Amino acid sequence: MAKGRKRAESEKTERVFVGSPVGDGIAIGIARCQDSRAAFNVREITIPPTKVRSEQHRLLEAAAKASGRLEKLHGQATRMGNAAGEELGYIIEAYQQMLSGSRLIRGVQRRIASDNINAEAAVLKEIGAMSEAFASMDDAYLSARIADIREVGRRLVEALSADAPKASKALPRNAIIIADELSPADTALLDPRQLAGMATMFGGVESHTAIVARSLGIPAVVAAANMMDGVQSGDTIIIDGSTGQVIVSPTEATLKAYRHKQTTFLKAQKSLKKLKTVPAVTRDGFKIKLQANVELPTELESVLASGAEGIGLFRSEFMFMNRAELPGEDEQFEVLAQVVKTMAGRPVTIRTLDAGADKLGDVVGLKPGPNPALGLRAIRFSLSRRKLLMTQLSAILRASALGPVRILLPMVSSVEEIREVRRIIGRLSARLKAKGVKVPDPMPPIGAMIEIPGAALTADALAAESDFFAIGTNDLTQYTLAIDRTDEQVSYLYNPLHPAVLRLIQFSAEAASAAGIPVSVCGEVAGDDRLTPLLLGFGITELSMAPASVLKVKKRILDLNLTAITGRVRRITAESDPTRIRELLDTLSPSDSRA
Ligand code: PEP
Ligand code: MG
Repeated sequence: MAKGRKRAESEKTERVFVGSPVGDGIAIGIARCQDSRAAFNVREITIPPTKVRSEQHRLLEAAAKASGRLEKLHGQATRMGNAAGEELGYIIEAYQQMLSGSRLIRGVQRRIASDNINAEAAVLKEIGAMSEAFASMDDAYLSARIADIREVGRRLVEALSADAPKASKALPRNAIIIADELSPADTALLDPRQLAGMATMFGGVESHTAIVARSLGIPAVVAAANMMDGVQSGDTIIIDGSTGQVIVSPTEATLKAYRHKQTTFLKAQKSLKKLKTVPAVTRDGFKIKLQANVELPTELESVLASGAEGIGLFRSEFMFMNRAELPGEDEQFEVLAQVVKTMAGRPVTIRTLDAGADKLGDVVGLKPGPNPALGLRAIRFSLSRRKLLMTQLSAILRASALGPVRILLPMVSSVEEIREVRRIIGRLSARLKAKGVKVPDPMPPIGAMIEIPGAALTADALAAESDFFAIGTNDLTQYTLAIDRTDEQVSYLYNPLHPAVLRLIQFSAEAASAAGIPVSVCGEVAGDDRLTPLLLGFGITELSMAPASVLKVKKRILDLNLTAITGRVRRITAESDPTRIRELLDTLSPSDSRA
């Protein structure tokens, strides 16, 4: 039998699928395919009007049953006792909310009555309509919600059918899950000790699946188009979490090459851990502050494990996600207080809500204008919704009494925006004090994100009003080059190494330094160790990045002689061809910098 399988395996040709990488590292293992589309093979049955009520009742019973099954999963997630478990817990709760009187359930109820069809078919129709409506909004967060709706729909159909869902079979050792899409709730059923990696056909790099994969710390790839047609359970699979490649039935030569790559990666990871408490100082004595970006509070564990000196960007959007109502001041305070306490004296930079464009709009009731990325978003949106802004700022001020906090304003485009927020904070602070609430004195530093070209070009004026700068290269690249950062069609032009972007970073850094205020880079380039010498060469001394990148960047800093590369950095900034800039960047490699 084993011999037969071996022969079949050797007859297969190697196939490579490419998706988006969401977790570093190499996984080599055995495919376990899961196709959730199978759950959607239901028949539409016409029902007489007299049966509508009982069919609607059957739906509600199924929703309660599905919710009960999720409750069990919730227990399993809690018992995981780690960040991934906590994150799954939140997601399962969101699913349960969708199963109780949500738009989905109401929509299915209506369809049973209006179309006179069975509940299963009505579920399918409703999720189809909702997915279409969300997809046409072209919003990354809403796209992630489509996966949630489909998952809840799948669970409903399962609960409506007489058969109980099949228990998830035990995974073989080194299993690699291959799925069309993988719900976080399904992930809770998997044993991470058995799981080597995962790859999905759908889901963006911001999807929950990607988030869970990252917190499980396994190599993963999402959006590998057509992959499921080329894989069968039992096939040997390689997942390259750094390039996004999924290699099915690799040849012996490919396997050998990847085993080598895997060993090298694991060795490098192990030795990086030794750097956790080593100060980030260049060979010629320049101290660099390495901080972490946080999107979810569950990441705090990895922030501490990375040895980051603080949180350089706390994206507060997650507090507004997956919910029907805005979070109140106390709720926000509880979350922020926990973060500040966990960071135990290390600074926490809390960014006010960055709603709009590709980021959440539903709960705050933001209607996208004709060009959302250029419309009402970020600080301009918050200033147009005073109550929402004041609630958030009050919560931040109260949390600031518990440890060092900085307040960061997204998408600042004019000095007036900073002045206005400063006035609001002054008034709120006085009001809280009058009520006997403990608030910091002096007020926490207020900083501006530099992510609009106009802000970068007037960085000198903004620096006069700001206590610090954080350069958001993700948006700065998008706006400088007129490239929608979410649009795959123009992603080949999205290049933070474009001289226009580099000059704006450099200009902002110089303005900050002339004004004597700290400046950090907190866009994705901060975590790319190939760019570290260049950013440091611009005079940047603070970088904030995903926790997983902190030690890698620290290693680069320890190897660097900043004084020795000054001339080469100058050559790069004088260069106007992006390709040449990439080539010159390679000359800033650690061995060269020892010269
Ligand atoms: C940026 O734009 O670089 C940034 C850090 O903010 P976000 O990615 O959240 O827009
Ligand atoms: Mg931004």
